[in-house]
Amino acid sequence: MQKKYKSGTLCVQGGWTPKKGEPRVLPIYQSTTFKYDTSEQMARLFDLEDSGYFYSRLQNPTVDAVGAKIAALEGGVGAVMTASGQAANFYAIFNICQAGDHFVSATTIYGGTYNLFTVTLKKLGIEVTLVDPDAPVEEIEKAFRPNTKALFGETISNPSVNVLDIEKFASIAHKHGVPLIIDNTFATPINCRPFEWGADIVTHSTTKYMDGHAVAVGGAVVDSGNFDWEAYHDKFTGLTEPDESYHGLTYTKAFGKAAYITKMVAQLMRDLGSIMSPENAFLLNLGLETLHLRMPRHCENAQRIAEYLKAHPKVKWVNYCGLPDSQYYSLAQKYLPNGACGVLAFGVEGTKEDAINFMDNLQFIAIVTHVADARSCILHPASHTHRQLSDEQLLEAGVAPDLMRLSVGIEDVDDIIADLEQALEKI
Ligand SMILES: *Cc1c(COP(=O)(O)O)cnc(C)c1O
Repeated sequence: MQKKYKSGTLCVQGGWTPKKGEPRVLPIYQSTTFKYDTSEQMARLFDLEDSGYFYSRLQNPTVDAVGAKIAALEGGVGAVMTASGQAANFYAIFNICQAGDHFVSATTIYGGTYNLFTVTLKKLGIEVTLVDPDAPVEEIEKAFRPNTKALFGETISNPSVNVLDIEKFASIAHKHGVPLIIDNTFATPINCRPFEWGADIVTHSTTKYMDGHAVAVGGAVVDSGNFDWEAYHDKFTGLTEPDESYHGLTYTKAFGKAAYITKMVAQLMRDLGSIMSPENAFLLNLGLETLHLRMPRHCENAQRIAEYLKAHPKVKWVNYCGLPDSQYYSLAQKYLPNGACGVLAFGVEGTKEDAINFMDNLQFIAIVTHVADARSCILHPASHTHRQLSDEQLLEAGVAPDLMRLSVGIEDVDDIIADLEQALEKI
């Protein structure tokens, strides 16, 4: 499926290829367990000698079909579907980092990821150094240590909507012998395929545009298969040395390019669960079938609205990489030539109360802790998603205290503008 077809076809047809007499539509395999004829057949599955389903904590056919579609869209060798985007980012790091290890991340990341990295992973003995992704290469390189195992960033950061220089990050990571992990949630593979720019692992919160209708929380980790773990044998011993919990099997030897993603299923899913449910995978698949139609509309609407806000006397500033005077315009032209996403950030003139009144006066643009679905919505990170962060941490994460994150939906753009206009008039 992968090589032959373009993204639009993969969105509709990828992942599930029914054989004679099987359902045309991806079925929900609502079963915890799978039947075999002999004890020997089952034993081979447990030893990873055969591939096949045995328990839905590790793998399930509905979930795998959606993973195959996302892997094809990103151009990877395989994907693991998780119960949330948080679980995806946790797994992406934890699959190659253990107590005593270190990794480097851009500071401009989603608030939940920021807490995961700086609070929870720290409790597990994994340390992170946060770097300004726009800093010069030499500056970023100072963060690397002998025990550094990965570099992490978001294609388009949530909520500040900055665009990452993926090639710059990839060259830094590879110079230091570590993989680049990119959270590609906001761009989606329709607008950017990070593997083409040197990223090694891609993660997603599928909760956002991929689902697109705000019905199911989920995540994905996709492996490009390109990182040469054996070239840094002593650094990635979890992949390059025998796993005693599978009778001394070595992932790089047994699975080659799919070593990283197979280890994630065999070890992390086995021990921690957090797999996407079959029903959520079914819903996600429906969303994916129209991703290639929805993304251009989100981008078109967001561009119009960014231009409208930019020209409005009551709007202090707008950050949208589609605006020619944006700091990220040229990076967006390079990495996101077909459009970035429907999310933009802006601040209004006046006090924090003015901003809150403005949001409260919106009619169908709802205040919700969500982003990137069909319905327009708005959020003030400093008082919602990022309220655990101090003002200093907010600025470090690229979140101005007056920043409002507007997620432009796929309604008629004239109606979205009219809603903004009537609320701006009341400031
Ligand atoms: C929402 C989000 C996450 C977390 O995903 P959940 O599905 O909410 O767990 C991670 N990264 C980015 C960029 C996000 O927008």
